Amino acid sequence: MASTLAANGSAPAYNGAAYPITDHSFDVIVIGAGGAGLRATVGCSKAGLRTACISKVFPTRSHTVAAQGGVAASLANMGPDQWQWHMYDTVKGSDWLGDQDAIEYLCRNAPAAVYELEHWGVPFSRTEDGRIYQRPFGGMTTDFGKGPPAQRTCAAADRTGHAMLHTLYGQALRYNTEFFIEYFAIDLIMKDGRCCGVVCLKLDDGTIHRFRAQLVMLATGGYGRAYFSATSAHTCTGDGNAMVLRAGLPLQDMEFVQFHPTGIYGAGCLITEGARGEGGYLTNSAGERFMERYAPSVKDLAPRDMVSRAMTVEIREGRGVGKNKDHIYLHLDHLDPKILHERLPGISESAQIFAGVDLTRQPIPVLPTVHYNMGGIPTNYHGEVVIKQKRDPDVVVPGLMAIGEAACVSVHGANRLGSNSLIDLVVFGRAAGLRAAELATPGAKQPELPADSADLALSRLDHFRNAKGDIPTAELRLRMQKVMQSDCAVYRTGATLAEGSKRILDVWAAKEHIGVTDRSLIWNSDLVETLEFDNLIVQAVVTMAGAANRTESRGAHAREDYPARDDANWMKHTLASIDPAARKVTIDYRPVHSQTMTNEIQSIPPKPRVY
Ligand SMILES: Cc1cc2nc3c(=O)[nH]c(=O)nc-3n(C[C@H](O)[C@H](O)[C@H](O)COP(=O)(O)OP(=O)(O)OC[C@H]3O[C@@H](n4cnc5c(N)ncnc54)[C@H](O)[C@@H]3O)c2cc1C
Repeated sequence: MASTLAANGSAPAYNGAAYPITDHSFDVIVIGAGGAGLRATVGCSKAGLRTACISKVFPTRSHTVAAQGGVAASLANMGPDQWQWHMYDTVKGSDWLGDQDAIEYLCRNAPAAVYELEHWGVPFSRTEDGRIYQRPFGGMTTDFGKGPPAQRTCAAADRTGHAMLHTLYGQALRYNTEFFIEYFAIDLIMKDGRCCGVVCLKLDDGTIHRFRAQLVMLATGGYGRAYFSATSAHTCTGDGNAMVLRAGLPLQDMEFVQFHPTGIYGAGCLITEGARGEGGYLTNSAGERFMERYAPSVKDLAPRDMVSRAMTVEIREGRGVGKNKDHIYLHLDHLDPKILHERLPGISESAQIFAGVDLTRQPIPVLPTVHYNMGGIPTNYHGEVVIKQKRDPDVVVPGLMAIGEAACVSVHGANRLGSNSLIDLVVFGRAAGLRAAELATPGAKQPELPADSADLALSRLDHFRNAKGDIPTAELRLRMQKVMQSDCAVYRTGATLAEGSKRILDVWAAKEHIGVTDRSLIWNSDLVETLEFDNLIVQAVVTMAGAANRTESRGAHAREDYPARDDANWMKHTLASIDPAARKVTIDYRPVHSQTMTNEIQSIPPKPRVY
C-alpha cells in the first residue's frame, strides 16, 4: 500500500497490513449526531436513502444538549414579528459579512422548522393561551431595527437544546437509520476531488471501519476547545473542520470567534443570554449599569460582540468587580423568584454549583468566554461544500456537504445572534436532507474505493499511537489554549497577532515531539485526545492567520489598531488552507453574497452598526 506521507507531514511510513479494515457501504453518511446531524439524518432516511449516522459520543450527549436560551423564529406569539425583520437583524448582527441569500433562506424557513419541532414533540414553554413562549434575545428587534426588541426566541425553559436533541434523536430512531455510536471519524476519503467516504476508529474494540457513500455530510460542531476558557463541551474539537483542511480544502472566516458575555467567572460554564432576556443586567464595580453607555437603545440586549467588548473595556479601565477587579456582575436578584424558577431553572442550579451563588439574592460573577465559531466549512444554502475558482466563486465539491456549527453557510457572518444557531441546525439540516434526496439515488452502485483509501487516516493513527516524544498531549494542548486565549481574544492588535502567530506555529511544530503513553487501540483516551489535539491545532493556526491578515474591525473580530469596519477592502470572506507537510497557511478571499435569494426582498445595504 502506498504511503500518504506527503499529505501528512512527518508521519512515519505506514504499513497498512497492521490494521484490518471492516468495510461499509451507504447512500449517505452523516458524521455527527447533534441537532444538525440528526435533522439531516431524518431527512435522508425519510427520502429512502440508506443512511448511516456516525458519532463519537452517544447522540444525546452532543453539545446541542447544552443549549439553553432558545431557538429564533418570527412566530409573532408575543407581539408583532415577521421573517423580514429577523433577516434584517441577522444581516446587521453579522456586520454585513453574512451571505444574504442564505440569511433569507434561514429566516423564511425558521417558523416552519420550529412548528416541525413542536409537532415532533419538543416540550416548549407556553404562553397563558397555550402558544410557544418566546423571549427577547440580543440584537433581535422589530420594524427593521426601528422598533423595540422582538420576543423571537422560542424556549423550553433554559433547556431548549436538551429538549430539541432528545426529540430529534427520537425521530431519527423512527426511520431506518443505522447509528454507529462511539465511532471516531479520523479522515475523509477523497478521490479526484470527490469525497467518497470516511475512515473511523471504533472506540470500544479498537477496530477500523471504512465507510463508502455517495454523499458525506459533516455535522461535527465547533472547535471551542482550541481556547482555554470555553462554554463548549470537551468534545467540541472541530474534527470535521480539520478533516477538510487535511483534504486540501479551505475553511472560511475562522477569525470570527464569538465570546459569550456571561460565562461563569473561573468555571467558564454558560449563563444563557436568556437571563438578560428575562430582565437581567450587568454592573461594574461602581454598581453602574454600564451597557446604557455602550448601546443606549437596547442596553444589556446588545449583540454579544458589543457586550463582550464593553465588559472588557470596563475591566481594563479599572471598573471590574471582585478582589482582582477582573470580572463583572450579572444581576437577576431583582426578578420574581417564581419567574426564575419557571423560566431559568437550569442556570439557578449552575450559579449555585459553579459560583456558589443564590441568584435570587446575589449577582453572578461573569466574564466573556469563548462560545461559538462563526467560521467553518464553506457551503451554499443547500449544505453543499463550495470552493472558489477563478471565474465562478461557488464550485461544489462533489460528495461533500456540511451543516451546523461546523459549516459556514454563512448566515452568522462576523457575529452570530443568540438563538440563531439552533435554528440554523434545523433549517439547514432539513435543507441538506432535501438536497441529498436530489443528489443521491437510493441503492445506487458505487465504484470500489481505491486500495490505499484508508492510508491517510491510518498513517495518522499509527503515527500518534507510536509517538514516543517527550511532550504529553495535555501539555501541548494547554500551550495552544493559552496562546489563543491571550493573543486572539476579544480585542486583537497587530502586535498580539504577530506574537500569537509565532507562538501558535511553535506549538504546531512541537507536535513532532508529542508522546502518547498508551499504545492500545481500545478505549484509549490519550490517543483520541491526541487526534483531537491534532485537529484543534490546525484550526487554531488558521484562526490566528485569518485574524492577523484582516486589518479592520468587524463583528467579533475587534482590532484595536484598525478600529473601523472597512467595507471597501474587507467585505469578503477569508478562505484559509494549510500545507501540513510544510506547516504553511495560505489565505485567499471570496466575495460576500450581498444579493438575496429571491427578488421578493431587497438586500440590506451596509450601514454603521449601532444599537
Ligand atoms: C453551553 C451552550 C449553550 C448554547 N445555547 C444556545 C442557544 O440557546 N441557542 C442557540 O441558538 N445556540 C446555542 N448554542 C450554540 C449551539 O448549541 C451549537 O452551535 C449547536 O448546538 C451545534 O450543533 P451541531 O449539530 O453543529 O454540533 P454538536 O451538537 O456540537 O454535535 C457534534 C456532533 O459531531 C460528532 N462528532 C464530532 N467529531 C466527530 C468525530 N471525529 N467522529 C465522529 N463524530 C464526531 C459528535 O459526537 C456530535 O454528535 C449554545 C452552545 C453552548 C456551548
